[in-house]
Amino acid sequence: MAWKTLDDMDFAGKRALVRVDINVPVEDGNVTDLTRIERIIPTVDDIQEKGGKVILMAHFGRPKGQIVPQMSLEIIAPAVADVLGLPVTWVNSDYGDAVAEMEGDEVLLLENLRFNPGEEKNDEGFAKRLASLGDIYVNDAFSAAHRAHASTEAIAHILPACAGRLMAEELHALEMALGTPVRPVVAVVGGAKVSTKLDLLGNLVGKVDHLVIGGGMANTFLAAQGIDVGKSLCEHDLAETARDILTKADTAGCEIILPRDIVVAREFKAGAANETLAPDACPADAMILDAGPATVAYISDVLERAQTLVWNGPLGAFEIAPFDAATNAAAAKAAALSKAGQLISVAGGGDTVAALNQAGAADDFSYISTAGGAFLEWMEGKNLPGVAALG
Ligand code: ADP
Ligand code: MG
Repeated sequence: MAWKTLDDMDFAGKRALVRVDINVPVEDGNVTDLTRIERIIPTVDDIQEKGGKVILMAHFGRPKGQIVPQMSLEIIAPAVADVLGLPVTWVNSDYGDAVAEMEGDEVLLLENLRFNPGEEKNDEGFAKRLASLGDIYVNDAFSAAHRAHASTEAIAHILPACAGRLMAEELHALEMALGTPVRPVVAVVGGAKVSTKLDLLGNLVGKVDHLVIGGGMANTFLAAQGIDVGKSLCEHDLAETARDILTKADTAGCEIILPRDIVVAREFKAGAANETLAPDACPADAMILDAGPATVAYISDVLERAQTLVWNGPLGAFEIAPFDAATNAAAAKAAALSKAGQLISVAGGGDTVAALNQAGAADDFSYISTAGGAFLEWMEGKNLPGVAALG
């Protein structure tokens, strides 16, 4: 799919309405993690360098169409000014004359879009009101692109629209991972449950050459093949679904890689006594909490021969050592191959990003998506309305 970027637009003397994701965590009125604000710097700087004025649009929390003072973006404005190193003026929901009065490199930050019920309804009227404040629409919020809202979808049909730097970077990485990837492509899917990732698995088996299934969801696949998984996390009611996925993979020529050895324990806690066994040897009173070294060795071998990796979900209960071992080892392997230029690696998902950071592997991955829900919907092969509207 083709979309315009900042390079395709003429910003000289124009006002750019820039949709960003600065939905940051706040404690006692202080922003505790500035990452999301830091990531909008390239887009803001670039538009200003091209002679444009920047009006930021964002949501904050879930006020559900009502004015909730604790969710006002006025709280965030000082942090945005600090991070951007620019004067930032917060504008209340009336918008008023602030736009006409913009001076020099001043940046406007519009009040929480979700205070207006029209935002989440993708309301044409609200989109028009927003559009009237600027000349060009820039979407830099990939993480909000899976929702058709006035500021992510409707507005893109009213003004000339393009992707910001962050959005363009994310789309480029995703395109390389699953759109038109260099083969062989490996997907690693782990995490707790099959039920939350059915669409994702269904989409991947048709697209990748090797699919590693790990974490709690691997137990469901083992059980579906008649293996006793003891007290492991397992969705027995999804046995048939799991078998369907295996059949679909077989038809599509996708190799499914399930645990070749398992690490079991009797307690779900750090340092719990554990043993490594064959996949069909889980004792009735034990739980499978990680994959073993033989599985890791096999995954490493597949990664060695692969060109592209896309990863969502840890291979084990990574929060409690030593059940982070398989996740850490596979992550280290992928990171080393990426660093050596042998592998394009893209990963995303809340716990996955935490696990890769914990493994010290995140920096060497080609791209780490922090987009959460939008990343998962993209892995499911869904059309993201905020991206489609830019095309
Ligand atoms: P993401 O947020 O990256 O999409 P998930 O939320 O699907 O990932 O999965 C992460 C969770 O899966 C973690 O809390 C982890 O402890 C859990 N998990 C992984 N393997 C197991 C297992 N064998 N038994 C129980 N929980 C597991
Ligand atoms: Mg999660």
